[in-house]
Amino acid sequence: MVLDLRRARGELAAAGVAPGAPAGEPSHWRYLPLLPVGDPGGQGTPFRAVGATPLYSVPDLRARLGLLRLWVKDEGRNPTASLKDRASSLVLARAREVGAEVVVTSSTGNAGAALAGMAACLGVPAVILAPRSAPPAKIAQMLVYGARVLLVDGSYDQATELARRASEELGWFCRNTGYNPFSAEGKKTAAFEIWEAWQRGELGEAGGAEMRLSVFVPVGDGNIIAGLDKGFRDLVQAGLLERGPRLFGVQAEGSAAIASAFAAGTETIRAVRARTLADSIAVDLPADGLRALRAASRTGGAYLTVSDAAILQSIAELGRSGLFAEPAAAAAWAGLRRALAQGLVNAGEPVLVLLTGSGLKDVGAAQRATAAAPVIEPSLEALRACLAKSSPQ
Ligand SMILES: *Cc1c(COP(=O)(O)O)cnc(C)c1O
Repeated sequence: MVLDLRRARGELAAAGVAPGAPAGEPSHWRYLPLLPVGDPGGQGTPFRAVGATPLYSVPDLRARLGLLRLWVKDEGRNPTASLKDRASSLVLARAREVGAEVVVTSSTGNAGAALAGMAACLGVPAVILAPRSAPPAKIAQMLVYGARVLLVDGSYDQATELARRASEELGWFCRNTGYNPFSAEGKKTAAFEIWEAWQRGELGEAGGAEMRLSVFVPVGDGNIIAGLDKGFRDLVQAGLLERGPRLFGVQAEGSAAIASAFAAGTETIRAVRARTLADSIAVDLPADGLRALRAASRTGGAYLTVSDAAILQSIAELGRSGLFAEPAAAAAWAGLRRALAQGLVNAGEPVLVLLTGSGLKDVGAAQRATAAAPVIEPSLEALRACLAKSSPQ
């Protein structure tokens, strides 16, 4: 399906997506003119609440980093608590259009939880193949939403291959990230929201033709960063933007196939054996590697890697500012710190960090990021004794 982006421009204004227009539907469905699906329905359910996530200016984090213009976009506020709702809702809209009876996906956790939750809203049967090592909260979420969940005794990449083969054998509609083109089409709506905030002057400068902004994105398969890049390019094609922001991809040191290629200056992406506590970005061979690589190189961004220790520190640092991030989301923050240290961005530049998933998704990692709470007898003496021993964090 080819979108007529010039025509979309007029339809967007009618949908309330234009400078000065009254606010349209508070979800990513306000961008339907820029999406390759018709109106999917789902009114009155969380399906209709995907996107329109909050943007925070986090004054204390600004002060701590010495950045004058810093924003955080909290994708944990999506209905199933991660950015994956954008992709899964679009894929389901498409699945319905083609009359799919069952939708299947592989997932490290969030894509499956998002598919399960969004499918429950529309009454579509979903099958999820996740590695058995996926965080328990994510698996519980899929089950509660009523999906058929199968835990694969293997890696995420193996689950992905199995989902693809099952879809071919059994005639299921396959959502696999990077394999189904509608996943990036859904994720691009985050770019539209960033652009709209820019237009409205919510990012400090009211809408110049060029978005002079650096966006930090955690990268596993590379589908989010590729989707963002696609979104900004759609806006350019629609004549709504001259140039999009710089895109910075952040990978875990132990799962850095794309970052390694970037550092080596090659477009050949080699598989790694992914090892990181940030399950959402643990990928051996990224499904959208090439597009993800180009998203950074084409926009004047870069790739950075961060250690698991830095990710845990970032969870704690964000938490003290009221933001609860899962490890992959905290990796984006750790990446910004590295970029500052390396001089890739400077203190005067506007920066936006995409916090892709809620900390409630991986309580085990959160516990590792903090000291355990002491247990005391239910007496004032025990409380006093404990307070005397330890100073508050
Ligand atoms: C999926 C996911 C990512 C990485 O997205 P890719 O498209 O695989 O690069 C990052 N953070 C969270 C929370 C995710 O769920």
